[in-house]
This record gives sequence, structure tokens and C-alpha cells, in this order.
Amino acid sequence: MSTSWAIEASEVTKVFGSIHALDGLSFTVKPGEVYGLIGPNGAGKTTALRIVSTLLLPTSGSVKVFGLDVVQKAAEVRKIISYLPEDAGAYRYLSGWEYLEFMAKFNAQNREEACAMVREAAEISGLGDRLKDKTKAYSKGMKRRLLVARALMLKPKLAILDEPTSGLDVIHSYHVREIIKRYVREHGVTVLLSSHNMLEVEHLCDRVALINKGKLVAEGAPRELKEKFGCTNLEEVFAKVVKIA
Ligand code: ATP
Repeated sequence: MSTSWAIEASEVTKVFGSIHALDGLSFTVKPGEVYGLIGPNGAGKTTALRIVSTLLLPTSGSVKVFGLDVVQKAAEVRKIISYLPEDAGAYRYLSGWEYLEFMAKFNAQNREEACAMVREAAEISGLGDRLKDKTKAYSKGMKRRLLVARALMLKPKLAILDEPTSGLDVIHSYHVREIIKRYVREHGVTVLLSSHNMLEVEHLCDRVALINKGKLVAEGAPRELKEKFGCTNLEEVFAKVVKIA
């Protein structure tokens, strides 16, 4: 039964000294779903994403990605996921194109596959001729687009995106959201993301988990959450639920 979930997180805790970053967090994500983690600063979103990505060990509890335990089968999990960190950077002295080539070589089985990945990422990024420029000359938004393209070019079974549109203007956020939607539709990619942008979450996510102090305090489709809490938008739901909790 467990293999039918893309992600199955059960009673996950993570303790840093005296801080309980996650406190019995459980959630499940279906294959092909876009699932969003929302919550105030310090709620535990990045910690949860890093545990699912095998980068951080949980203190207790378990997480399975397509049936594979992220601790016991970390190497296998890494083959089917890609992770976009919140504060990722690209190598400053490589051009965007060289950066994509460098990353593709790590992941592709052969030269042809690597070339196809780079072509795909170049298209996703929408950076056109600017890919020839060194990344140190990119704006924040251009860097983010390059990094989102890097995460998606691998066509992972699960893409884990920590604030994918952080720092992007309206147009570029829209562009990145459209890319994610297209990817889910065309390649059946499952997406786990975190965001502070409620409009984004409403437009992009099939389901949302609202996390506060390391615990899940509300979960559902954006429409269901609005109905349940009698709110007209997710921002209101957020304010109401975080206050209650
Ligand atoms: P934000 O929205 O601000 O990015 P978040 O929901 O992603 O926040 P986390 O980064 O997961 O929150 O942090 C959850 C809690 O765990 C915070 O109190 C944070 O200070 C703490 N924490 C996270 N990583 C570490 C670490 N490596 N060492 C000590 N404490 C940490």
C-alpha cells in the first residue's frame, strides 16, 4: 500500500538542540500532485523538505519517497528526486549554459542525454542568449530561473522546490509557475514545494499543508480550506489558522 504514495511522511520529528523544528509531522502526497507546504517563518518547511531530500536525518519518524525510505535507501531516493534549495547559487564564473552542462554531466548516462538535458533546461529557463553570460552577471530572478531549469531538466519523479519563485517579479514568477505546471502535465512529475506566496499556492497546488511550530495544523485543496474556514482566500485561512494554533 505504501508504494502508492509519492511521499509518505509519518510522525517526523527533528530536534536541533532545544529547538523542535518538526514535531510529529505527517502527510502524504499522491503521484502527479503538486503539494505545497506553507507556514510562518521558522515553521519547519525547509527542515521537512531537506529530510525528504535525504540531506538531513530525522530525529524520529519516517519518510518514504515512492516506497523508498529516505534514511535506509537514501542513494536510491537521490536517483529519482531533484532538490532546489531556498538559497541555491550557481557557479559565478561559469556561463548559464556551462553551468547546465556541468550539472547535466553528473546526472546523464551518456553525452546525448546530457545534451538533451541542457537543451531542455535552456528552453525552460527562457534565458535565451543570456545563457552565454557568466552567472555572476545575472539578476536574482535570472539565477532562480536557471536553477529551477536545472532542477526540472532531470525529469525527476519528485521535484522538491524550496520557494521556487523567491525573489522573482510578477512576470518571472508567472513564467516559473507555468513551467512547473507544464512539467507536471507533460512528464507526470510530482512536486513538493514551499512558498510564502499564497496566490502562487492557490494557483499551483492541488493540496496544501499548513505547518506551524513543526506541526500540521490544516490540510486540503485550497478550495476546501477556504470553505472550511469561511475565507475568501488562502491568506485569510493562513492568518486564521496560525492564530488559532
Ligand atoms: P522560513 O519560512 O523562515 O524559511 P521554515 O519554515 O523553512 O522558515 P526552518 O528553516 O525549517 O523553517 O526552521 C525551523 C526551525 O528550526 C527554526 O526555529 C530554525 O531556527 C531551526 N533550525 C533549522 N535548521 C537549523 C540548524 N541547522 N540548526 C539549528 N536550528 C535550525
